[in-house]
Amino acid sequence: MKRFILLLAVLALLLTGCSSSGPAEGTLTAMDTYMSIRIWGEKRLLSEVSDMIYEMEGLFSVTDEGSEIYALNQNGTARVSPRTLDILEKAMTLSERTDGAFDPTVYPMVKAWGFTTGDYTIPESEVLAALSVGTEYIHTDGQIISLEEGVQLDLGGIAKGYTAQACIEMLDTCGIEAAILTLGGNVQTLGSKPNGEEWRIGIADPNAPSEAIVKLHFTGSMALVTSGGYQRYFEEGGIRYHHIIDPATGCPAETDLLSVTILTGDGTTADALSTALYVMGSDAALDFWRTSDDFEAVLILEDGSILATEGAAPLLYDCEFTTVSR
Ligand code: AMP
Ligand code: MG
Repeated sequence: MKRFILLLAVLALLLTGCSSSGPAEGTLTAMDTYMSIRIWGEKRLLSEVSDMIYEMEGLFSVTDEGSEIYALNQNGTARVSPRTLDILEKAMTLSERTDGAFDPTVYPMVKAWGFTTGDYTIPESEVLAALSVGTEYIHTDGQIISLEEGVQLDLGGIAKGYTAQACIEMLDTCGIEAAILTLGGNVQTLGSKPNGEEWRIGIADPNAPSEAIVKLHFTGSMALVTSGGYQRYFEEGGIRYHHIIDPATGCPAETDLLSVTILTGDGTTADALSTALYVMGSDAALDFWRTSDDFEAVLILEDGSILATEGAAPLLYDCEFTTVSR
């Protein structure tokens, strides 16, 4: 898994190329992911960004015994920091917006399949049916969060996007002209490179993740987040079981998609929507896009076809694709 993430990050780095104006560059491993940071500006901001990433990991991790989410999952109630309250409120809003396709309370299901520990099993359907999943089981009273009996949170579908967004906002406030953060499958840019070069980002080929199947060229600030079953899975009896769960069934989402990439200005939204649209499948995902006005998407289907929404299509290079209109 780590090797795969490393390949993805290296791919993103290679595709972004090197600028003669010399960005400060750093790498780190956090949130179970290889990450890279490039900032055109003060080098000291590299450590501020990595400190921020470690701080968020320390708050949101489901496995770190010192995290706020861990305390909440263990005790059912906790007073949380403004950061944790903020991500949770955003997660609940995005869950409502996607009619529960993205759901931060999916953790009991994720655990039942063994995705947290890597100790994979296929749970009995009665076990899955008995689990309590749904944001209606989360109660907030100021900074005090309470979860109903058996309810547990997993922010894995949104934490990297939220963290990238927070780091980019911090860099923007510091007056940084250009930066690019690659947190596993999440890429977020700030501004444009001083030499006028475009950002060049690859979308991984789900069947050969170290290769790019699509390349995107653009200038300016954008978040690009990819979700796909190929990113984490196990196989049993010749069947592949992946890590993106359909909260309606408790099982890995049965979808005609290999991956979904969301393009939008906000990293948090991009991350939650990439997970949600993957769960929805291509028809519902495109219907959802048609009723929204704040993102674009690139869908890679099981049959090998690539669909780009009309706002994304002009950014695509080196691939054959079909443009989807409103
Ligand atoms: P992503 O890679 O952003 O699509 O997130 C996948 C991760 O989010 C999984 O490894 C789980 O920890 C968690 N997850 C799985 N299914 C869902 C879901 N339907 N809604 C929210 N989080 C999910
Ligand atoms: Mg996500």
